[in-house]
Amino acid sequence: MAPHATPFSLETEAIHSGRRIDPATGALTEPIHLSTTFERDGDGGYARGYVYGRSGNPNRDALETALATLEKGTATATFASGSAATFSLLQALSPDAHVVAPLSVYFGVQQMLRDIFAPWGLSYTLVDTPDLGAVAEALRPNTRLVLIETPSNPQLAVTDIRAVADLAHQANAYLACDNTIASPVLQTPLTLGADLVIHATTKYLAGHGDVIGGAVVTREPNPLFDQLRLVQTIGGVVPSPFDCWLTLRGLQTLPLRVRAQAQAAQAIAIWLAQHPAVEQVLYPGLPEHPGHGVAQKQMQGYGGLLSFLVKGDQERAMAIAAKTSLIARATSFGSPHSSIEHRASIEQGTQTAPNLLRLSVGLEHVDDLIADLDQVLNSGVN
Ligand SMILES: *Cc1c(COP(=O)(O)O)cnc(C)c1O
Repeated sequence: MAPHATPFSLETEAIHSGRRIDPATGALTEPIHLSTTFERDGDGGYARGYVYGRSGNPNRDALETALATLEKGTATATFASGSAATFSLLQALSPDAHVVAPLSVYFGVQQMLRDIFAPWGLSYTLVDTPDLGAVAEALRPNTRLVLIETPSNPQLAVTDIRAVADLAHQANAYLACDNTIASPVLQTPLTLGADLVIHATTKYLAGHGDVIGGAVVTREPNPLFDQLRLVQTIGGVVPSPFDCWLTLRGLQTLPLRVRAQAQAAQAIAIWLAQHPAVEQVLYPGLPEHPGHGVAQKQMQGYGGLLSFLVKGDQERAMAIAAKTSLIARATSFGSPHSSIEHRASIEQGTQTAPNLLRLSVGLEHVDDLIADLDQVLNSGVN
C-alpha cells in the first residue's frame, strides 16, 4: 500500500479510500463485520487475512486505509478514543525515554503524563512549542518523542511543524503532531516532516458527535510504529466495528464540512474581534494572531474552532455561556451542532484564562450563530 502515490484529490479519496463494493452481495456500503473470530483454513492458515477481532477487522482496516490516504501516510493504528491513541503512543516508548510536549497540550495528555507515565518512569518537559528556542533547549540525549498540537486546544497556538521536525530529527527523536483541530483538509503534517499524526477522530473526522475514537498515522514504517501496533493489538484498546463504520461514513463529507466550518469561524472571529464585550479573540485566521504567518504557510484554512476572552471575570464568562440558545453548552468540538464551553472550569492545573470561552462552529447558518452570540454578549453586565 502506497497512499503517497494516490492520483485522486482529497474530496475523491474521502469518499472512495478504504471502500470497495462488497464481493458477496454487491453492497456499495460495506457491511459491519461484528464477528469476533474468523474461519481458519484446513492447513491452519488464514488466507483471508483475519484471525480475531482484537487483532484485525475489515471495518477497522477500511478506516485505517482511508486515514493513511487522507493524511498522506503509509499506515494507521486506530483506537477506542483520541486519548487512547496518545496513551498507546506513550506506552510504545521505553520507560527511560524523555518526551517533549507543549505547555498548552490538551489537558488530558497533561494528566496522563503527570499521573500515569511519570510514576512509570517516563520523563517529560512541557514547553511553549511555538518558541523554537524553547523546543531546542528542552531536547535531551534520551528524547525519543516530540509531541506538538497545532493549532492547540484551547489556545489555538500555532507551532511551525517543519522547523520542529528539523529540531526533533537532529536530536534523533520522532515528531508526532496532533492534527485534530486542523484535520487533513487544512493541514497534512506528514508532508511537512512530521513522522506521526495523532487524531481524536471523535471530532472532525467522524464529524457528527456520535462516536469516540482515535488514530495514529505514520509517514513511514519505523520501530516506534511497529511497537505501537503491538500495543494496539496486544493491549487491545481498539475501536468497535460499528465505531469504525461510523467514522468511515463521516469521512465522506469531511472536506465539505471542514471548509464550511472554517469559513463560518473566520466570519465569527472577525465579528467577535470588533465586539465591545470581547477582550481578545484567539483564532489563527486573524492577522493579529501571533501564529498567523506560520499558519498561512502550513495550513489551507484556519479551522472551525476558536476561543475568545470576554471582558470581565470567570463569572461573566460562565453567564455568557449560560445564555446561548442555538449554541449548545457542552464540551468537545467538530460536530454539525455548534457548542460553547468555559474551559478553565473543567481543566485542572492548566494556564487557561478564567474568562476564556471556546467556540466550536458547526454547520448552522453563520448569521444565526452571530445573532445568538450577539444577544448573549449584549445581555447583562454591559
Ligand atoms: C478531544 C481531543 C483529544 C482526546 O480525544 P478523546 O476522543 O476525547 O479521547 C486529544 N487531543 C485533542 C487535541 C483533542 O481535541
